[in-house]
Amino acid sequence: MSYAPSPTDPKRPPIRINLLSDTQTRPTPAMREAMARAEVGDEQIGDDPTVNLLCERVADLLGKEAAVFMPSGTMCNVAATLAHCRPGDEILAERTAHLIAREGGAHAALGGFQIMPLDGRDGQFTLDTLRAALRPPTRYQPPQTLISVEQTANIGGGTVWPHAALTDIATLAKQHGITTHMDGARLMNACVATDLSARAMAAGWDSVWIDFSKGLGAPIGAVIAGSRAFIDEVWRWKQRLGGAMRQAGVCAAACIHALDHHVDRLADDHANARTLARGLSQIAGMSVQEPQTNLVFFESSGAGLSSDKLVAALRERGVLLAMMDGRIRACTHLDVSAPMIDDTLALVRDSLRRT
Ligand SMILES: *Cc1c(COP(=O)(O)O)cnc(C)c1O
Repeated sequence: MSYAPSPTDPKRPPIRINLLSDTQTRPTPAMREAMARAEVGDEQIGDDPTVNLLCERVADLLGKEAAVFMPSGTMCNVAATLAHCRPGDEILAERTAHLIAREGGAHAALGGFQIMPLDGRDGQFTLDTLRAALRPPTRYQPPQTLISVEQTANIGGGTVWPHAALTDIATLAKQHGITTHMDGARLMNACVATDLSARAMAAGWDSVWIDFSKGLGAPIGAVIAGSRAFIDEVWRWKQRLGGAMRQAGVCAAACIHALDHHVDRLADDHANARTLARGLSQIAGMSVQEPQTNLVFFESSGAGLSSDKLVAALRERGVLLAMMDGRIRACTHLDVSAPMIDDTLALVRDSLRRT
């Protein structure tokens, strides 16, 4: 993904407003303090008390038996499919899923799995689409063993899968003996947006993970949860993939701090996203997808400047945005304030006037 100019590019203007991604957050002073104070041990042998506490907290949060700390969300997805599936199996996921387009083909390269991309809208497929994709098991067909959804759906626009749809999918999957996996990189955004608990959102899903290096503002880490047997298998893959760590409690402390202090405030990010979208949609010709969480997707060619050119013009003005699958993505997060949103809107209008 070519998001941005290299940080070492001498021509790069100073960045004042970073809407590139919620991965861009810097640990707050309080988070750094929590990290400095962390009690640590050897994570690889299960001896890091802070990691263990984090895993207990997340297993409880998601209503699962056990959990394991991972270096990244990508490794959660990869270890999960490796634990759930066998070579030759088929995984079903929506066409724009991170699993398909943004993990370097890991599921094919490491697992020998094929992924069936399901058509969807805003990153979500319907129960009918899923039903139509399910085949009667014969020896000609690859076994369909796993269904994966993203909560929230990233490229879909940060959209929230309705709880009822998740329940229907999990129920249908169970009827067909298919395992269910939730890529919850931004699950907590979905929970804050709907006022539903993570436990409710994850109910009926076999494996679920949350990312701490996105909107929750930690520098590193994700935690995946599921049954004890599943987590044992994920641990084996984590070891094989080189993801087992040592004094990882320093990082886990940041994640615990995030659970305590950075969940409710996601509502501020959502409010900022709504303000940004409202302002953008007041510009004639701008095509804006209404945000449900912290991601705002829009397209500017109707307003007189192609999306690529608008992103470049804003970069010149110190605002960083991402191009994703042909649209501009603005992401609000911990390091983006309400006044920065007003500034961004003024700079968008300025860019359109002057170019
Ligand atoms: C960011 C993201 C991932 C990967 O997480 P990393 O921690 O960046 O590896 C997976 N799925 C979705 C939907 C994401 O947005």
